[in-house]
Amino acid sequence: MKRFPALILIAWLGTFPFISSASAAPDGTPIVFADSPDETSDDEPNEPAEDGPQEEPDLNVEGLDLEEAALFAIAFDPWLLTDGEIPIRREMVVTNRRQRDAQLVEADAKVAEAVGIQDALEVELARVQAIRDKVEQDLEGYAIRIWSMGDDGLQESYGSDFLRARLQQPIQVATADLVERLRVAGENLSHAVIAVDEAAEVVRLRRIDRDEALSRLRVAQQIRQQFEAKLVARNEAISRRTHEVLVKEADPITLVQVVSVVVRTPVVDPEDEADDGSSGDPTDDGSEGPIVSTDTEDPNLPSEGEQPEPEMTEQVVAITPITVNAEIADSLVALIGAAMSDGVDLSGWGYRDRENQIILRRGNCGSSGYAIFEQRSGTCSPPTARPGFSQHEKGLAIDFTQGGAILNSSSSGFLWLQANAATYGLINLPSEPWHWSTTGR
Ligand SMILES: [Zn+2]
Repeated sequence: MKRFPALILIAWLGTFPFISSASAAPDGTPIVFADSPDETSDDEPNEPAEDGPQEEPDLNVEGLDLEEAALFAIAFDPWLLTDGEIPIRREMVVTNRRQRDAQLVEADAKVAEAVGIQDALEVELARVQAIRDKVEQDLEGYAIRIWSMGDDGLQESYGSDFLRARLQQPIQVATADLVERLRVAGENLSHAVIAVDEAAEVVRLRRIDRDEALSRLRVAQQIRQQFEAKLVARNEAISRRTHEVLVKEADPITLVQVVSVVVRTPVVDPEDEADDGSSGDPTDDGSEGPIVSTDTEDPNLPSEGEQPEPEMTEQVVAITPITVNAEIADSLVALIGAAMSDGVDLSGWGYRDRENQIILRRGNCGSSGYAIFEQRSGTCSPPTARPGFSQHEKGLAIDFTQGGAILNSSSSGFLWLQANAATYGLINLPSEPWHWSTTGR
């Protein structure tokens, strides 16, 4: 790609909005992306996970039109291709090859047509040549006869000048006619020669066109082959990167599944309890209970000390299991229990393994290798940390739901967390009302 026009490559790459910071070298060397500033990828060199060094394409791209140049460019940036783009690009590459194929067939036909015309003209030339030769021969024959009649040595054989003249006249007329015919035949011959020459020139030009069509077809075939080869390399690179991320040593963590919380609620209305008869304990303080009771307990003022803290009942409530790091399990149990006590029914998702983080990135950021592993988290929708960099992978983040729906900034669950979560050590990531973690990331 010695003379690959940089402008074309850059214009093409400009269709990928997320690599605005990318630069394309005019010689087509691989694009190097700036490091994501929000994440430290300590284990990765500063380069896209391309398939090692790019092999130098042995394509002659001189004279490619813009479309082919674009095809050529994408064939060498497959890491940027998303799953959805692949069939579209492949269609372009295949269509290009088919068109080149058809153009070659057409060029072949034009060559054959020109050769046919040339052949026919050569046949015509031969015919005209033969006519001229015949006329020439005839003329020579008459010339000899005239010459011999004019020979004085043979005068007697014709008897008299008169007879000789009478014999010569038609021959002279015929000779004049033959001279004219020879002139016309000669003209026809030179026209036929010119026509053959012109036909040969047409053949020559059409053969040049045909050779160009052939070389364009070969380029199209190579583009297609290299496109497919690069797709294989892309998929392998994605698989390899996936594997690397999955086996990358993670800090060991202990996971626990939180399946129930303790909900503390104030003791219900004492009147109800009295009706129930479930509690014979006359411990209702300061209420308008039976006068008798008040009388008997009158001197027992210290019991008022219990008044600010109403009696609580504790209830263990099963919840949708949430897997988190053991470090935050107790706080989470307390948090959800406290929220339930306040009538806010929270649930959520905590730990997510790397495989699922990769799947999530694929869904939220795009299916190119770049999108999954390198694109900045903030450019995904919703923002999603790169595999290996999520607090969820440490079990230290929870995405909260309320009544089955993910929290938004006006959910009562979100407002409750805003007021209370810090007590339990959880901080919100401002861009995501549902995402709470020990670091706020
Ligand atoms: Zn989250």
